[in-house]
Formats: sequence, C-alpha cells, structure tokens
Amino acid sequence: MTMQTTRSSHSPAYTWPEGRHSAFCFTVDVDAESPLLWNLKDETSPRLIGQLEQRLFGPRVGIWRLLDLLDRFAIKATFFVPGVVAENHPELLPAFVERGHEVGLHGYFHEIVSQVSDAEFTGALEASLEIFRKQIGVVPRGFRSPAWEMTPHMLNELKVRGFYDSSLSGFDHPYMIGDVVEVPVQWAIDDAVYFKFVGGGADSWPPSAPGPILDAWLDEWEMLHADGGLLMLTVHDWISGRAHRIRMLEKLLHRITGEPTAWITTVGEIAAHHSNSVNKGRYIVPLRNPELIAERRFGRAN
Ligand SMILES: [Zn+2]
Repeated sequence: MTMQTTRSSHSPAYTWPEGRHSAFCFTVDVDAESPLLWNLKDETSPRLIGQLEQRLFGPRVGIWRLLDLLDRFAIKATFFVPGVVAENHPELLPAFVERGHEVGLHGYFHEIVSQVSDAEFTGALEASLEIFRKQIGVVPRGFRSPAWEMTPHMLNELKVRGFYDSSLSGFDHPYMIGDVVEVPVQWAIDDAVYFKFVGGGADSWPPSAPGPILDAWLDEWEMLHADGGLLMLTVHDWISGRAHRIRMLEKLLHRITGEPTAWITTVGEIAAHHSNSVNKGRYIVPLRNPELIAERRFGRAN
C-alpha cells in the first residue's frame, strides 16, 4: 500500500541523506528517581518509598531490557541522563557508551524549568557536564530539557556551548531556533503520557493498554515516513522497561527496521546532518521571547 502524503507546508520537503526517505530516533529519558529527588527539596513534600522503588526499577531492570532490545535490532539510540542519575548509578553512562549509543544532558535533578532561575539552570548544566566528563571522559553534544520546557536563557546557553536541543515541537523534522539546531520531540510519541502511573492515589486515570498506543505510533510513523519527516520516540527506563511494553516496542521496531529507506540513527547524527545539509538554510525560526511579547502587548514585563 502506498501511503498518501499529508505534507502541507510552504517549505520544501526536508532533505535526508541519499537513499533515505525519513528518519527515526529511539530516545530514552533516563529519569529514574531524579524527579522524586527534586521534589524532596520541598520540605513539605511526602517522603514516598513506593514511588522511589518503582522508579529504581528503571536502573535496576528496565534500562537493561531496553539496551538488550536495541541490541536485538542493532539500533543506536540516544540516552538523555540527569546528572544525579549518573552519579547514583555510575554503571549507566559507561554501559551506554560501550554499547555504541549516544548520551546527552537532561538536567541535574531533572529540575522543572518553571521552578529554577537562570543561574540555577546554568549551575545544573555545569554540574552535569562535570559528571559526564568524570565518568566517561565525553562531553555530550545534545541537551533535552526536563519535561520539555525551555526559556530564552536556556537556549542561549546551548548556543554558546554549541549543543543541539531536543525539547521543542515546532516541526516534525529538524530546524533552527535562536541559532540552535532543534531535533524536535512530540508528546504524542512519549510513553509517559499514556503509561505513567505512580500509585498512592496520585493518578487521575489508569495506564493505557499498549495495543491502541502501538497502533497510533505506527500510524504516525507511516504518515511521517510518507511525508519525509522524523519520528522521535521517547521512552523512560522505569516505564517502558516493564515486560509488556518491551513487547510493544519490539513490534514497533520490527515494523520500522523493515523499511530500508528509513534512516534509523541517533539524535546527534540527525543534528549533524541538519547542520551539514541544505536544510540548514531552509528551516529557521526566530526565537520569540515571551517577556518581550508581554511587554509589547501589555506594556510591562511579567
Ligand atoms: Zn525526563
């Protein structure tokens, strides 16, 4: 069956390397226990052992299942790792690198962007870089924001350091924003949206069954492949490392790896391709500073 293209844009089609019609990235946000540690900063937050254990399932079991799954399909993935997760589980970064994967930054304590100052963000970035340098002697090229929010200060820090970003969703192929290469994510292809369930009365709905989500992800991939786009899959160690979700991912990878014109590679490789191809001059959006918009619209800074 030939998939009807859905492309509807004023821009020309995105250009992939010779012989490739679309791209696919398998990314893991290795959050483990880091968001819970960040919550502990607040003295009034409950001290929850149940959620801590669920999250520690990630570094203990889930991440190794994901690594084995990737090996079975010979796929190189990108692992975005908070500094404190690397610090608490020093076996992780070396294992990712040894098995041929890319590693990228993901905050230190998985700091939520709306809760940190510019200076705190920079401090977290530098502390994370130090851990990566110490454990693997490698300075990552990429950054993914915790919970996928960004500020003008953060983008500028990435620009100054020459990092790519993978936290925004303005296209479904790479683009440039504020002089930073953006390799975009999208919430609909993130496992946490459907499967995150922490228990203890904190959740508003039950986790989805994997079947309908697999169908939706396969539809998204088939349409994006026909369109020449990028499918950026994001999973989490402690969520998708559960057995039946590994099975679901296996089915997804079976389908995608069966398509020889799909470029299956790391986020860093995609970012490098963007910078070294005709796409670089085609997809550039200005950085819209929300503070300046507020000033212009309402005559004051918020
Ligand atoms: Zn995260």
